[in-house]
Amino acid sequence: MIKVLVINSGSSSIKYQLFNMDGGTVLASGAIERIGEATGLHHHRSYQGSDITESRHEQRIADHREGLLHIGALLRETGAITEISELSAIGHRVVHGGESFREPILINETVLQKIRDMIPLAPLHNPANVMGIEVALEQAPDIPQVAIFDTAFHQSIPAHAYRYALPESLYTEHRVRRYGFHGTSHHYVAKQAAAFLKKPLESLNLITLHLGNGASAAAIAHGKSIDTSMGMTPLEGLIMGTRCGDIDPAISFYLGRTTGLSSDEIESLLNKESGLKGICGVNDMREVHHLAKTGNAQARLALDMYCYRIKKYIGAYYAVLGHLDAVVFTGGIGENDAWVRERCCTGLETLGIALNAEKNIIVSNAAFDIDGEASKVSLLVIPTNEELEIAQQTVSCIKNRGQTSVFSSPY
Ligand code: ADP
Repeated sequence: MIKVLVINSGSSSIKYQLFNMDGGTVLASGAIERIGEATGLHHHRSYQGSDITESRHEQRIADHREGLLHIGALLRETGAITEISELSAIGHRVVHGGESFREPILINETVLQKIRDMIPLAPLHNPANVMGIEVALEQAPDIPQVAIFDTAFHQSIPAHAYRYALPESLYTEHRVRRYGFHGTSHHYVAKQAAAFLKKPLESLNLITLHLGNGASAAAIAHGKSIDTSMGMTPLEGLIMGTRCGDIDPAISFYLGRTTGLSSDEIESLLNKESGLKGICGVNDMREVHHLAKTGNAQARLALDMYCYRIKKYIGAYYAVLGHLDAVVFTGGIGENDAWVRERCCTGLETLGIALNAEKNIIVSNAAFDIDGEASKVSLLVIPTNEELEIAQQTVSCIKNRGQTSVFSSPY
């Protein structure tokens, strides 16, 4: 049995899933939260066929090293593995791969150093990813470990779309450009869309909408990303739970002058206090709907703004793609929120986008289509599975190891 452990290491959490890659099934999953706080939490699920066993342990977990030891111990105790050495590979989610990584890569000291070099580009994410890798390498030095980058799928975006209209030196010396994120999810649902439509991915033009707490849109031409709404950081683009998405950059300077907030405080305000939360006070879309139903004007405005921004991106990406085969909705909101999906598509009938209201309210864990008969464009709801995609990419990376160099050329 090929067993692959997927690790997503955050600043105070480690999420994980153990896959049996022979059947693509999940053997165990869980998360350690509140690392470093007085009481940490470890919740774990073991899967045996349709049987699920859950456990919750509350205790202090001092650091990521201790967290990973807990995970290894629980995987052994619950019989998911007998020894760590039974793992065929470990796949690590890494948020930022900059221009250095276009593909998953087997981790060695050189690769790890390059991931560390990306820390200035992703100071909120890459340090925790690096920590997870360092600890896993220490605890399982003989297991192949692979890094999978959120940015990699978008490395096919051409310069006219990834460059900002800023002085050249900011790009060449400071790496300022659009990188895009959620690449693992956009790639996964694009492949699933191709399977659903029974066409090769290389023949398809798609707009994929990942609408979760974070949200981004991607324009995919012939299976490759040619533009995406997140930018140098995940702040740009669509309105998100707590991130503002596109705003006039001059607002930051205006806020600095008029409110006296520091640049760190403004960064935090735009990332953590804005988006849906900024407009109506709550960041969870279900709560926004709940407020809107009670007549809350701010919640209604938040929904209007949220869907309007998505619609603008659909229009823009349709224009750059020229021909569009399908729009794909994914992420917690994209997969579950029929109201948002309908609102984003309403009025686009002249573009050949026509949603079927009855199909749209279907609830399903599998992919389904929601386009009406008159629609020239397929409208699909596809559950994302970033962990499975990471596990699959980990397996193909270790199978291909040594065959090709995955470093792209330097700037
Ligand atoms: P993350 O980006 O953290 O992975 P998810 O993809 O799980 O987040 O998406 C979280 C969002 O999905 C939340 O705003 C949540 O309210 C929303 N969501 C989940 N289920 C539903 C639902 N049934 N209807 C509307 N929104 C939902």
